[in-house]
Amino acid sequence: MSSDPQDVVYCTYHPNIPTTLRCARCGKPICSRDAQLTEVGYRCPDCVKQQQAIFYTGTWYDYVIAAIVSLPLAFGAALLLTSINLIWFFIIFLAPLAGGFIAEAVRWAVRRRRSRYLWLVVCGAIVLGALPTLVRPLGLLTVGAGGALLGLLFPLLYLALAVGAAYARLRF
Ligand SMILES: [Zn+2]
Ligand SMILES: [Zn+2]
Repeated sequence: MSSDPQDVVYCTYHPNIPTTLRCARCGKPICSRDAQLTEVGYRCPDCVKQQQAIFYTGTWYDYVIAAIVSLPLAFGAALLLTSINLIWFFIIFLAPLAGGFIAEAVRWAVRRRRSRYLWLVVCGAIVLGALPTLVRPLGLLTVGAGGALLGLLFPLLYLALAVGAAYARLRF
């Protein structure tokens, strides 16, 4: 039946792989390596890319806006939350709030346009913002490891919680 070579369809992306799969949107023959299963059937990489382009409404300058908005907030939040030693315990509650606040501020600043790597810019800013709070305890390493580790604990805890909260709000 399928001995007729004219009946054999080859993958658009891999001209030497015969296939029976087709993109459910554009009908282009694709092999199992390219096919991406969506809720509306198999899609070719081009159609998936096109869909994502519609989904991501952000522009390149949204990344610049995100950096400008999140950096000062990140520096401020890290300094504030790690300098108040008396309430270090509250870092567990305040750090996710700070991360969430920075993420929301950025979302507001870019008018809620979606960008694929917005979370990366904001999380990067939070890490940069926390660096000054890590430098001092790291300097203590030369004096004694115990004090330095304790000094690092809260900035690192803050960092992990704030980054986690920001990521949870911005990843799409
Ligand atoms: Zn397609
Ligand atoms: Zn293929």
